[in-house]
Order: sequence, then structure tokens, then C-alpha cells
Amino acid sequence: MADTANPFKFDNSYARLPSRFFARVEPVPVSQPGLIAVNRDLARELCLDPDWLASGQGIETLAGNRIPRGAESLAMAYAGHQFGQWVPQLGDGRAHLIGEVRDTNGDLRDIQLKGSGPTPFSRRGDGRAWLGPVLREYIVSEAMHALGIPSTRALAAVTTGEAVFRETALPGAILTRVARGHVRIGTFQYFYARNDHEGLELLLKHVMDRHYPEAGKSGNPALAVLNSVVCGQAELIAKWLGVGFIHGVMNTDNMSVACETVDFGPCAFMDEYAETKVFSSIDQGGRYAFARQPDIALWNLAQLATSLLPLIDGDSTKAATLATDSINQFPDRFSGCFDRVMAKKIGLGELRSGDGEIIHELLKLLELHRIDFTHAFRALTSDSGKQDGESGFAQLFAHPSDAAEWMRKWKARLGQEGSGEDRQRALMRAVNPAIIPRNHQIEIAIEEACNGEFLRFHRLNAALQRPFEERPEFSEFAAAPFPHEVVTQTFCGT
Ligand code: AMP
Ligand code: MG
Repeated sequence: MADTANPFKFDNSYARLPSRFFARVEPVPVSQPGLIAVNRDLARELCLDPDWLASGQGIETLAGNRIPRGAESLAMAYAGHQFGQWVPQLGDGRAHLIGEVRDTNGDLRDIQLKGSGPTPFSRRGDGRAWLGPVLREYIVSEAMHALGIPSTRALAAVTTGEAVFRETALPGAILTRVARGHVRIGTFQYFYARNDHEGLELLLKHVMDRHYPEAGKSGNPALAVLNSVVCGQAELIAKWLGVGFIHGVMNTDNMSVACETVDFGPCAFMDEYAETKVFSSIDQGGRYAFARQPDIALWNLAQLATSLLPLIDGDSTKAATLATDSINQFPDRFSGCFDRVMAKKIGLGELRSGDGEIIHELLKLLELHRIDFTHAFRALTSDSGKQDGESGFAQLFAHPSDAAEWMRKWKARLGQEGSGEDRQRALMRAVNPAIIPRNHQIEIAIEEACNGEFLRFHRLNAALQRPFEERPEFSEFAAAPFPHEVVTQTFCGT
């Protein structure tokens, strides 16, 4: 008989791991759950009924007040390096993995509530989230997905009717996050640091079954998984850089081995291009600045490699050599991915020698003249078929002539493509967004939501679902901030 009261068909692979992998704990009910949003397309992709999720029972479930049948709520254990400092015990301190469901492709997807109450890993935290970070994660994770960048997703957001105390009392909220998996580099570190060889083996098998089944057939599965994560992270970070995304808190506990973007704490997209750009209020040293992200990814991968050593080879010298060779692929991998991402952004279908230089010179030009990153590539998209003298790109400069020399080189190179202007423009249009989640718009949406007005939040999400289209009705979201609107910091006070 169809179970209309429970649309979830759980298949909880993580809960089948030994009990030391997690703490079994349920969300703590909240007084007055209220629906903010259900992501209807994602619900359908997960074989869930969006109408049910938006119903009274659905909202109770999304708030953690009602545990659906088949759920096995748990908080995952992990460790990690936070800003380079080793922390042996982190874990989900305010999140509950309620279970895993199969999507329309048959892939397992985690359903996790975030902000759903304390767990044994909460340390001094309250286990809650306030509305601001919940809306930020909803907006940015869905925008990342729409931009074609692997990311955890947002299935729903609800208010709790309860206050959360940060510096002041703020409205509480819960996000329902969907991920291909929540195993982080820090999860491997957790077992490695405890000398738990069996734990490491079981974790590797879990990750392999779920994300890298082909690694299981290789002669050295641990090394094959490491190689896959090295490649996946190189591609991911290159894509971040291609849209001006700054993660902000690339600690090893925030790096997914499934290579999705995860944890949207103090993240932001930059407006004006600057390699050293940092938004996070707690990143004083600029450790996670925009252009440092590939180096940090490599540092994080080295921590993963270390944790996998015992599984790579019983002979520690041999294991170290193999692991080092694996992570040493990262810089070239990353450069290759980055050049391909950037080449498309300037209309080049294939990379030739000298193209890296053109890309590098463009970025230097943007930085020197403080040009809006998103507008620059969108203007180049429009310029690609035009004659000299009517360039929208040059108009972004205080002195348009400053763009002339680079434009000449670029046009000359485009002329060698042989793909035709229409194809070039189509290529550029498909990778250069008109709309990104600009920080000032997110902040205004949050501010208005705190006053009970969610219209801007919904409109911003709608605009970001089709980021490559120019839609006049959403032109306010395509605009760069006026000087008085610029938001320079994002707060981790999540
Ligand atoms: P994050 O900076 O969000 O990656 O969180 C780092 C660690 O702190 C994780 O173990 C979180 O679960 C935990 N944490 C963050 N905020 C809270 C909170 N309000 N209550 C309990 N634990 C938290
Ligand atoms: Mg985290």
C-alpha cells in the first residue's frame, strides 16, 4: 500500500557503518515551524512529492519535529584542520543526517537537516542556525548548481519560531541540505589520527561504493580514490575561480571527497576582480583569499593523502612515494582545468600555446583597473562579434583606451579560431553568467527576511536559476553594487 504519509524511501548506507562513525541522535523539536521555501525541482529529482514537503506534515519533518519512517538520524564524526590548526574532534554539531534516498538516476543522496539542534559534537555551540546563513546557503548552493558547478543542494528552508542568540537575538531557521555524500577529508583524518585501520578501510569502501566504483577494480583502490579526488578538486576549484567564487573557509572538514562545494559559511562572489580578495571576517591572514584557493586545496589534499597512507601500502616509504606522486599531479591538473575554463570564457574552443598568456594579461588588466569580473566577461561576450570602436568591454574602463591593446590581441586570436562569430558567442554565453549571487543582494535579502519579507529571497533564487540569460525583469540582480552598497565582509557567526 502506498505510504502517503511518508514519501521518503530511505536506503541509509552511512548508518550501516559501525557505531563509532557517528552518534545516533535525533533533531530537537522547535516550537513553531514555518515554511520559507521548498525546492520543487530538486524534490522531484529525489522522487519526493513537493506538495507533501510543503504540507503541514512535510514542514514538521523539515523542522525536525517529525521523524519519517525509515529515517536513521545521526550526527557524523569527523576531525579537521581549521585555518591550519589540527582539531581532533569536530563532527556535526548542529546537523542531522536523517537518511539517504535514491534520486531519479538511482544515485544515493544524503538528506541532512542543518540547524536542527545539539548533538554530542556540539562542543560549546547551541546546535542552531539563524536565518541569515540558512538563506545564504540556500541562495548560493542553488546558484552554484545552476552555474554548472558541483555543489550540495538546498531542498528546503524553514523558520523555527525560536530565537537564536549570536551577538543579538536572531530568528532561527533550518536548512535541508542534499549532498552526494557528506564524507570530508576530515572524516579520513578522524580515523587516521585514531590509528583506526579498520575504520579507514570501511570508510574507503563506503566512499568507493558511493562515488568511485571504478577505483575498487584498480590494483590500489586507496591510491585510485586519492587520484580521483585530486582530479575532482582540481576541476572544482578551477570552476570556482571561473565565476569569482571565494569559499572563505576551506578547512579540511569543509572539503568533500565527493568533490562538491560544501559549507557556505562566509562564502561570497567578488564584484571587482582582485586576487587577494577575502570576505570572511575571521580570515585575517587571507589564508583563503581568492587566488590562494588552489594552493589550499593542494594542502588539504596532502592531509587526505597522509590519512590514506596506511591503505596505500604496508611499506610506509613506498606509500609516501605513491601518495606524493598522486598529489603532485594537482598543480598541472589545476592549471589545465583553469586554462580550459578561462579559454571558454573568452570564446576559445581549444587551447593553443600563448593562450595562457592572454588569459593572464586579461586578469591583470581587470585587477589593475578594478573591473567587475562578471560584467567584464559578459561584455566580452557581446563584443566578440563586433568591430573595433564599439566595445562594451572597453566602456567598463575609466579610460577605454586602456583596454585597447589587450582587445587587439584577443581579436587576433579569436580570428584564428575558425569557428565563426556565432559559435564563439554561443560558447561564451554558455559559460559567462549575467547574474551571480552578489553579496550585497544576499545581504539585503537576509535583512528583509529578518523583517518577515521573503519576496527578494524568492526573486533572487528565481533569477539565479537561469544565470546565463539576460532577463530584464531581474536586471537589478545583474547590476554591480553602488559604492555605498558594497559589502566587504561576511560573518561566520553562523
Ligand atoms: P563550520 O565552520 O560551519 O564548518 O563548523 C565547524 C564545526 O563547528 C563543525 O563541527 C560544526 O558542526 C560546529 N558548529 C558550528 N556552529 C555550531 C553551532 N551553532 N552549534 C554547534 N556546533 C556548531
Ligand atoms: Mg563545516
